[in-house]
Amino acid sequence: AGRWARAAEILKELEERCGTPEGRLRQVADAMAVEMHAGLASEGGSKLKMLISYVDNLPTGDEEGVFYALDLGGTNFRVLRVQLGGKEAGVVNQEFAEVSIPPNLMVGTSDELFDYIAAELAKFISQEGDNFHLPPGRQRELGFTFSFPVMQLSIASGTLIRWTKGFSIDDTVGQDVVVELTRAMERQGVDMRVSALVNDTIGTLAGGRYTNKDAVIAVILGTGTNAAYVERAQAIPKLHGPPPKSGEMVINMEWGNFRSSHLPLTEYDHALDAESLNPGEQIFEKITSGMYLGEIVRRVLCKMADEAALFGDTVPPKLRTPFILRTPEMSAMHHDTSPDLRVVGDKLKDILEISNTSLKTRKVVVELCNIVATRGARLAAAGVFGILKKMGRDTSREAETQKTVIAMDGGLYEHYTTYRTCLENTLNELLGEDISKSISVEHSNDGSGIGAALLAASHSHYL
Ligand code: ADP
Ligand code: MG
Repeated sequence: AGRWARAAEILKELEERCGTPEGRLRQVADAMAVEMHAGLASEGGSKLKMLISYVDNLPTGDEEGVFYALDLGGTNFRVLRVQLGGKEAGVVNQEFAEVSIPPNLMVGTSDELFDYIAAELAKFISQEGDNFHLPPGRQRELGFTFSFPVMQLSIASGTLIRWTKGFSIDDTVGQDVVVELTRAMERQGVDMRVSALVNDTIGTLAGGRYTNKDAVIAVILGTGTNAAYVERAQAIPKLHGPPPKSGEMVINMEWGNFRSSHLPLTEYDHALDAESLNPGEQIFEKITSGMYLGEIVRRVLCKMADEAALFGDTVPPKLRTPFILRTPEMSAMHHDTSPDLRVVGDKLKDILEISNTSLKTRKVVVELCNIVATRGARLAAAGVFGILKKMGRDTSREAETQKTVIAMDGGLYEHYTTYRTCLENTLNELLGEDISKSISVEHSNDGSGIGAALLAASHSHYL
């Protein structure tokens, strides 16, 4: 009886510490809006970098020709070619390939990583069918989606500020990633030029706008998390030089690095952060995104095994391995609807080598997944609400005249149904019934690839 009491106590304490009542979410949203202002005011003015993307026009639908995209962002990278047909025709043809990144390349040298990417690109080009029509004598053009914080000074260049999401390659930091890729392409004999360097949020926003003219915000919830939105140029004091003709600029928030005293953080989060590759950074990301949710659950289970003997007298050795419990597995357990929670039992056995778990134990695991996922999803919703506030799209006056579309993508959003539903419900809760009618979330399925190709088209050297 003692061990169940202790397990229940740990669970209850976690639930309290992870609590996200509406009032707290409003504080988080307000803090997000305040930090957005600060980040736009001056370089280094906030934890939110609020990076200028140099995208001052989003796709119109007129883009035409064959363009390529390369998406490097976390677990996999994708290469894509699209044939854009211009007005009315849209995307006439597209092909893509997906390759996982060998873990050793994520912490090796810059040349190794970029050579690997360029070599995959070379393979992709060599398999090109003749159903893609690139005019003779014309160099291939690429939109490079690079989902890490980059300081840009033009649409086709930018230096890496720092790696996130498990990447750590010192010699890339401070380098222009377009130069790094271009040199690797030359080494690998790939005849291609980078016409646009974009963050995945910017790519997703561009792809989202291509399919819906009301798209003004993009949010990624995958391995990591980030958001981008369309800002008025006049509201960006740190934007120097001639103002863009459109009067607008897309901002890459790098919201994964958001942090506020209003965020509900637990002992598990502090320990995870302290032991991470980037302590003190990406705190919002570490409680909302796919790389970390499963790991938080593992840490709580470890404590329960240790202090409440949840899995017997000793802590199962596998349970002590960081990142062994991945978020897709957590999601599968969370979604288990079988009466005996068979999926939970199987996952505990297969991943953690814990066999013969009781139904009671399995229920604790599901409840734990629920607490961690709910906190993440509700905080992500608060973040979106913060952007809507900053844009002035949270009031009824705006809502009457303007629809707002939020383009969302990423494996977590796409596959973790309970997380996604909770996020969308929470956003509606924060917006209220009337205003939520004018605001919709749309899944932009791999929009960032198409988006990057579209931006390569609108920034083509042949225009
Ligand atoms: P990336 O963010 O690496 O560019 P994705 O957008 O495809 O790539 O997201 C992959 C991430 O999404 C994985 O690292 C994982 O955390 C999460 N994910 C993938 N599948 C699932 C799933 N079934 N349930 C929950 N999370 C998932
Ligand atoms: Mg991605």
